[in-house]
Amino acid sequence: MSEQHQARKRFGQNFLSDPNIIRKIIDAIRPVEGERIVEIGPGLGAMTEPLMERLGHLHVVEIDRDLIARLKTTHPPERLTIHEGDALKFDFGSLAADGTPLRVVGNLPYNISTPILFHLADFAERVKDMTFMLQKEVVMRMVAEPGTEEYGRLSVMLQYRFNMGRLFDVPPGAFRPAPKVMSSIVRMVPRPVTECTAADYALLGKIVTAAFGQRRKTLRNTLRGWLDEADFAALALDPGLRGEKLSVAEFVRIADYLAAAGR
Ligand code: SAM
Repeated sequence: MSEQHQARKRFGQNFLSDPNIIRKIIDAIRPVEGERIVEIGPGLGAMTEPLMERLGHLHVVEIDRDLIARLKTTHPPERLTIHEGDALKFDFGSLAADGTPLRVVGNLPYNISTPILFHLADFAERVKDMTFMLQKEVVMRMVAEPGTEEYGRLSVMLQYRFNMGRLFDVPPGAFRPAPKVMSSIVRMVPRPVTECTAADYALLGKIVTAAFGQRRKTLRNTLRGWLDEADFAALALDPGLRGEKLSVAEFVRIADYLAAAGR
């Protein structure tokens, strides 16, 4: 089947071909019959087939018209609902509108990893969990701890919404064509809203972006427009620290302090 489809670089197409890895990923997802799962980028169906087999019915979001046509000829609509279009614009909340929690899975196109993760984060409240394959380097940044080199905006903004764990790595040889980089499987489980919620999410995003904008600079410099020495004292925060030392909770504390002050 894959011989007939020329993999398209612009859609980040690397198709899984190692049956052991496919089985391992499906086992990690642990689909249970009747659950509502949406797969992003089904491609040639490496994960779609085994998911459908275990669930009975599956939703997929795919952008490539040739692949959509192929999926339509091989799968009846009562088993596979195909949402044609760009996952970056897809309203994932619509699949959970009746209150059924949604599970999201996929071997994601690596060229849109960051925007798709931020888009999906907006639906965290409707989602039960998400299991993705991504470039290992991106997964390392997602799960990074404060004080490490990988820790940055992506870590803070995703860890704010999700508990995340790297499950296992997948070598390039598991795909056709083989990507240049190592991949990893990551699981994302939304955190309870009560756990750590910023009063103003947009403000939190701005502060985190500013704090990591110039990595070598201290908070005194990067947050200059927001906090003066008296504010740092009130927050009991050392202005000589760099953003990479602050935990998610500390960023939330700064955002809430500014929101409370009406700034
Ligand atoms: N799931 C298949 C597998 O594991 O073999 C294919 C994975 S391939 C890395 C990524 C898939 O996402 C391709 O099928 C590609 O066409 C699709 N895709 C790329 N960009 C997309 C987008 N913006 N929205 C929806 N699907 C997209």
